[in-house]
Amino acid sequence: MNIQQIRNATLVVQYAGKKFLIDPFLADKGAYPPFPNSLRQDQNNPLVSLPTSIDNIIHNVDAVIVTHLHLDHWDDAAKNALQKDIKMFVQNEEDAKEVQNAGFQNVEVLKEDTVFEDVQLIKTKGEHGRGEILKLAGLVCGVVFKHANEKTLYVAGDTVWYEAVQEVIETHKPEIIVVNGGDNQFLQGGSLVMGKEDIYEVYKAAPNAKIISVHMEAVNHWTLSREELKNFINEKGISSNVLVPDDGESYTF
Ligand SMILES: [Zn+2]
Repeated sequence: MNIQQIRNATLVVQYAGKKFLIDPFLADKGAYPPFPNSLRQDQNNPLVSLPTSIDNIIHNVDAVIVTHLHLDHWDDAAKNALQKDIKMFVQNEEDAKEVQNAGFQNVEVLKEDTVFEDVQLIKTKGEHGRGEILKLAGLVCGVVFKHANEKTLYVAGDTVWYEAVQEVIETHKPEIIVVNGGDNQFLQGGSLVMGKEDIYEVYKAAPNAKIISVHMEAVNHWTLSREELKNFINEKGISSNVLVPDDGESYTF
């Protein structure tokens, strides 16, 4: 497999000969106002440009997976760029309706036993924060990829560390794990995705896996920088376990 970090949670995953696009957030730098009630109210989103052209990103995509419909995972630029008959996977019927309302005709709700062209896609749970903020943040999912010729990949999505993430790791024993690690927050309510201590918990649960931290430094409410995470994993001695890609960087496993 090959995993390319595009920007924020947007990934291109080549897996068992298929090209998956995950959480396409494809607007030009600065196209949207900042998320309110959070840091950097003077900076528009996305904070940075795409590292490559939209045409490159969407060329020959076999399926798109949208883990939830927040703007930084599914935006108008993506809706405009993608062919309306492309295969789309979403987390539930509610999201399917919205994606269909945007004109997409081939939308499927991910299940725990979804199969797409030989690739097993297993929907996983996530919690987009802890406590009260969860009601505001709404439902999210992750996905496990399995294929006889490939290592198992777990894309955790917009979730903090909690018991269901541990269960996915124990059940599916992923060799590659992608976490959303920017520790994005509003001014109140705490982490919406993983911070460095969450990532350390993922490492402890899967000490032999490669953990890739994405969703960093791309939208205004981030609180964990790549540099701070790199310092942290160096201190913990786990810098060969936890990878912190720049936008555009890719890995082959
Ligand atoms: Zn997000």
